[in-house]
Amino acid sequence: MVELKLGTDLLARARAALPGGVSSPVRAFGAVEGDPPFVVRGQGASLFDAQGREHIDLVCSWGPLILGHAHPAVLDAVQRALRDGLTFGATCAAEVELAERVLKRYPFAERVRFTSSGTEATMGALRLARGATGRDRVVKFDGCYHGHFDALLVKGGSGLATFGTPSSAGVPQATTAMTDVLPLDDEHAARALFAQKGSEIALVVIEPMPANAGLLLQRQAFLETLSELCSEHGALLMFDEVISGFRVAPGGMTERSGITPDLVAVGKILGGGMPVGAFLGPAQLMEQLAPNGPVYHAGTLSGNPVAMAAGMATLDTLEQPGTYERLEQLGAHLQRGWEAALVASGTPGSVARMGSVLWLCLQEGETPRAFHRIEAAGAERYGQMHARLLEQRVWMAPSAYEVAFVYTAHDEAQLDRAAAALAQALSAP
Ligand code: PMP
Repeated sequence: MVELKLGTDLLARARAALPGGVSSPVRAFGAVEGDPPFVVRGQGASLFDAQGREHIDLVCSWGPLILGHAHPAVLDAVQRALRDGLTFGATCAAEVELAERVLKRYPFAERVRFTSSGTEATMGALRLARGATGRDRVVKFDGCYHGHFDALLVKGGSGLATFGTPSSAGVPQATTAMTDVLPLDDEHAARALFAQKGSEIALVVIEPMPANAGLLLQRQAFLETLSELCSEHGALLMFDEVISGFRVAPGGMTERSGITPDLVAVGKILGGGMPVGAFLGPAQLMEQLAPNGPVYHAGTLSGNPVAMAAGMATLDTLEQPGTYERLEQLGAHLQRGWEAALVASGTPGSVARMGSVLWLCLQEGETPRAFHRIEAAGAERYGQMHARLLEQRVWMAPSAYEVAFVYTAHDEAQLDRAAAALAQALSAP
């Protein structure tokens, strides 16, 4: 079959040209059975592979595509923007407009600095926090991922956990000597660290909805404790909302929790599928960035006009009445379907969910809230199940530590098919 040859050839060529055949490691199917199919097209909630097969997509490009693939409003906006050119190297009107839309959704903040990725957003924000406080120490949480830069590439969840690497080679110890890692869901450990080093801590960074090591939903009281500890000790608090921003509410977890952090990092949905990140906060803090302040941060393609257009169209479409309610309904529908599949197949497990973000947790007992409570056996079960799901054209992340997303483009019938496929995949001997 000609198409099959195309797929096979592409995989061999990819592996010869790209390390591991990929540009980002978890895509490589290292922790699941089989080879990754090549995607040639996305439409709505479907992905089409090089062999012409249609898959129900629950990966959502790992978070950015909340409206579905090739959404007409986003494509129109991009097409209109690109007629005027791809990049100007000067501030453009779209940048101002997108920043205003972001500030409307995050009213605690007064300034936005755009970047080209989530990694750059958290990296810039950490430098700003250190510059503003005159302190060096940063606190992160085991299982939370904040991008692939040195200072925060410690115990970072999925990409690292999938391959059993606690951290990365090539990160000098001196770089992470100022990074402390705490367990999630543990006020006692946070208090103990602050008692010891509170006056040295520049920043506490957390995914307020940790979604890079399964979905480790945190208690409100835990997030509040962090906020209080930071205030007491003069440290800054950053919510990394690269996944939760614009997804779990227009103002993400900041809105849902009612807690006011000092900084927020966003990305993914903000670019509607184009490479965009941003960090935001009050003027007094953000104006310490260059050119007004001493903290340097820059980017050749930051605030790119085409990417800004994709982000605006995405946020505007999300703002239409009933959109978040619909995402909640669809998320709840898939959760019920998955729970029924677990019961029907007699598989120990549970489903964690917040809005349109779901995690299938294949272990007994309560759904964990901390990384060290995730059992390795679940990952093995997931690896086998993943291949069977793919055979039934259900596209889930090739890692037990990744969450699934639903789109506004999904419908109940597709989600029922995805749940039925799961029941079958889990029942197979
Ligand atoms: N923070 C969080 C919470 C993320 O999930 C990610 C990416 N998955 C990042 C930061 C880094 O974003 P990017 O991959 O765009 O650099």
